[in-house]
Amino acid sequence: MDFSPLSGNPPHVKHELVVRVFLSPFRVEHVETPEHGEQPNYKDGIIPGHFKEHEIHYILGLLEEYHKDSNNNRLQKWPDSKWIQFRSILKLKVEQIWNVLWARPSEGMENVWMRYLAATKGYKSSVVPSLKLDLNLKLVNLPSEADVRILCLNTTTRFRSRMSLSWVQGGSFGILDWYDIYTYEYEGNIINCDAAHEFGHYLGFSHVAANIEGNPYPAIGAKPGDTEEYGITEHQRGNVMGMGTRVEPWNAAPWLRHIQRHFSGPEKPKFVAYVQNHH
Ligand SMILES: [Zn+2]
Repeated sequence: MDFSPLSGNPPHVKHELVVRVFLSPFRVEHVETPEHGEQPNYKDGIIPGHFKEHEIHYILGLLEEYHKDSNNNRLQKWPDSKWIQFRSILKLKVEQIWNVLWARPSEGMENVWMRYLAATKGYKSSVVPSLKLDLNLKLVNLPSEADVRILCLNTTTRFRSRMSLSWVQGGSFGILDWYDIYTYEYEGNIINCDAAHEFGHYLGFSHVAANIEGNPYPAIGAKPGDTEEYGITEHQRGNVMGMGTRVEPWNAAPWLRHIQRHFSGPEKPKFVAYVQNHH
């Protein structure tokens, strides 16, 4: 997490959540669904040391599921150029979708915010700066440097991606496929991008209509795994934590929780989040 200096016009403070990401390519040349019902050897595609034994066990289970789902599933080694493309587009796309959130101090709290900025940044203007809430994916070169390790599949059909959330023993891991970095149309009006959704899970979000406290649409009564969890109405499904890419003010919760910790005095300003595309 990082508070960067005041910049821009009007001035704003950048509040970044930094996630160190290690991407591990599936490396076997060609894994084709064999005839006569034998299991392909997926394990050779996973680079030893990048994932823990229990994670590999879980991943192999998912790959077998994928194998059963269709007769046409193929996993291929990443050609160098495609791998480079995947890495850069992943970062670009996820940040582009998430980085539309802003916040300002709630009414009556501007003075607390301004005193804080004067004390910590030497800020002297009378203009109340907004907060720009950003997600920064840092692609790192070693699994040991990462907050999250992701197995990346060069698939010929879509794979159902996952992201685990763990803050113990080396952090989270996930699975993404080639298609996840792209936006595509879902149900006509809804634009989907699985990678952005999976990083939403990493930030701590459940699905948009999951029946949990703090969820904006909790009255649905969906059970984990139900498709209803992804949203009942089209509006709900359009959220990044449904089937879409729309980020809403309630998605600012991970940043707003952090910000409270910067105020150690008796007065902790609340912030109001809003969405604004920046160009
Ligand atoms: Zn999900």
